[in-house]
Amino acid sequence: MTQRMSIDEAVELIEHGDLKQLGKMALARKKELHPKGVTTFVVDRNINYTNICWVDCKFCAFYTHEKKADAYILSFEEIDQKIEALLAIGGTQILFQGGVHPKLEIEWYEELVAHIHTKYPQVTIHGFSAIEIDYIAQRSQITISEVLMRLRDKGLSSIPGAGAEILSDRVRDIIAPKKLDKDRWLAVHREAHKLGIKSTATMMYGTVETTREIVEHFDMVRQLQEETGGFRAFIMWSYQSDNTQLKRELPTLTKSTPNQYLRYLAVARLFLDNIPNIQSSWVTQGSYIGQMALLFGANDLGSTMMEENVVSAAGAKNEMNQEEMIRLIKDVGESPAKRNTAYEILERF
Ligand code: SF4
Repeated sequence: MTQRMSIDEAVELIEHGDLKQLGKMALARKKELHPKGVTTFVVDRNINYTNICWVDCKFCAFYTHEKKADAYILSFEEIDQKIEALLAIGGTQILFQGGVHPKLEIEWYEELVAHIHTKYPQVTIHGFSAIEIDYIAQRSQITISEVLMRLRDKGLSSIPGAGAEILSDRVRDIIAPKKLDKDRWLAVHREAHKLGIKSTATMMYGTVETTREIVEHFDMVRQLQEETGGFRAFIMWSYQSDNTQLKRELPTLTKSTPNQYLRYLAVARLFLDNIPNIQSSWVTQGSYIGQMALLFGANDLGSTMMEENVVSAAGAKNEMNQEEMIRLIKDVGESPAKRNTAYEILERF
């Protein structure tokens, strides 16, 4: 077995590696892991069941507070309508996340998941990020494990990696001081994996982190994967600053570049040797860099993103439909395929 990349090596590659060479190395690694040249995507939609949130992350432009005029909690009927629209275009998954509502308890979430799963058993609920799970536990005075078990038993089968941001408490204290700390984010995913609920790992970079903190983030994900094997994919995106408190506090923060994105992505592909899938973030990078990502280690174009509300509130308003995804994938000489949440191929094009 080839030797594992160390933190120092990864920092060196990100900061001083030749971009073209990084792309070559990451593409070679991707081809070892995915020798058939298939690039996948999923047809899903985001459903943000509420925008009410007490966590007040400074990089977030999506949330509001309970008494504000724009605050909402979707009704079951509204959720059903959104799922019906997804089914009409052949979708299989809902990315189901909210703000972190200060008052809702486990029974409310159980009823919600049971409603969706009973009515639409064919739809995978990829829902509730670590901060939501952690807060439901606190609010309901039960353990994280009990929250996960009770939601799993109602039909939750996968959880998204959102809220990892950078797994550094120094960074979190600056950009999201009320959010759960890094160990707790890892603990929620560890518990989920133990209970048979797979998840994804994410990273949002481009605020105040150092290169070493980025690589330490990769390392924590790699270590937990070593322990549980429960991450299906790694997804990273850059901070989008429009309408955020962080932009008001740190107006001189410079926007991260496509070059940085491709460097981080290539090194993620090399470093995360035990994570099978890496997604391209065309939503934040645009379709051209999203396509380039396929040459820098990504083997999945993510989602068609019917109704994206969170990063679009902060300025990233890219859109893509299935036909465009197929075209971009074919354009780099790969075979497009629609997948489900478990990365099983459903249809080839
Ligand atoms: S990122 Fe999530 S937890 Fe943070 S303020 Fe926005 S909705 Fe709330």
